[in-house]
Amino acid sequence: MIPMVNLKAQYADIKDEIEQGLARTLADCSFILGPNVQAFEQEAADYLGVKHAIGVASGTDALHLALAAEGIGARDEVITTAFTFIATAEAICYLGAKPVFVDIDPKTFNIDPLAIEGAITAKTKAVMPVHLFGQPADMARIEQLCARHNLKLIEDCAQSFGAKINGRQTGSIGHAAGFSFFPSKNLGAFGDGGLVVTQSDETAAKVKRLRNHGSDVRYYHDVIGYNSRLDEMQAVVLRTKLKWIDHYNQARRSRAQRYSQLLADLPLLTPSEDGLGEHVYHQYTLLCERRDDILTALQDRQIACAIYYPVPLHKQNVFKAAYADIQLPVTEQVAAHCLSLPICPALADDSIEHIAGVIRNVLTA
Ligand SMILES: *Cc1c(COP(=O)(O)O)cnc(C)c1O
Repeated sequence: MIPMVNLKAQYADIKDEIEQGLARTLADCSFILGPNVQAFEQEAADYLGVKHAIGVASGTDALHLALAAEGIGARDEVITTAFTFIATAEAICYLGAKPVFVDIDPKTFNIDPLAIEGAITAKTKAVMPVHLFGQPADMARIEQLCARHNLKLIEDCAQSFGAKINGRQTGSIGHAAGFSFFPSKNLGAFGDGGLVVTQSDETAAKVKRLRNHGSDVRYYHDVIGYNSRLDEMQAVVLRTKLKWIDHYNQARRSRAQRYSQLLADLPLLTPSEDGLGEHVYHQYTLLCERRDDILTALQDRQIACAIYYPVPLHKQNVFKAAYADIQLPVTEQVAAHCLSLPICPALADDSIEHIAGVIRNVLTA
């Protein structure tokens, strides 16, 4: 059995430090916005090269609160991708704003800057690129067009912790960004967690207020807020894992290179790095006409694999009536042929060879 991510192996390496930290928190009984959340926020801000990092309850909340703090509201349009996890669009909808889905680049699967330009209307308030599967979107062009059209740039960094582009961390480029610490993400907690980052003092102050019932001073409430704090226990886990993140991401990159080497001559498209940024391979996702045959063969051999994402957002039941008139041919084509293989720092080389061998058998038999 080969899983998509081997969290047990990762835990074994860092077990002692995490268990000591958790034991201290249990002894202190300081569970909400305690010393570890504060320390993690500072450590994450330093790592990411941003002025502020604010821990929240999930990646979905991070995007929601980032958009809210940047002033996105009812009837505003936010241009984003349909080839992503639903949370990208949910965060926009929570505010009464409308996700405007545009097409993606066929090689990187990231939002196409030219398509963004074509979708801008008088109602457009923000652009939300997703650094999908760990590869940074084309931020130089997106940043430029946001500046030219006076739009907010909010990055969905749920899959890109530690990915860099032009020497800058994803999350440090836009007006604000949201990260997820869902357990299987590159930097994962032992439950839900998220982070908003920003260079703006004003945005940071708003997010801090929003995550804690609209309050700066206890029992004095300035706005309607939420209960969306990063848990102290999760902060303990994240502080330990943050020390390892470069090692984890490097291990993912080298495993991805190994797959691509082994699969290079087959009739499929291995993930392409656009050379603009550093891909951190949250997923290793290939394209193949015979995707479903490969999927069956891997599953028959107890090898996990997954289709991220089988149904683009504009075709989801929740959205399809409202978006019946749009076509995103590249998105639809990619969704029909993509397949993600197991990838994580603990994935052994013989497992990669085995998986590549199964795929080779399917495509050359
Ligand atoms: C995981 C994910 C989210 C949401 O994060 P949660 O922590 O699960 O709420 C948002 N966007 C993308 C692209 C994701 O992969």
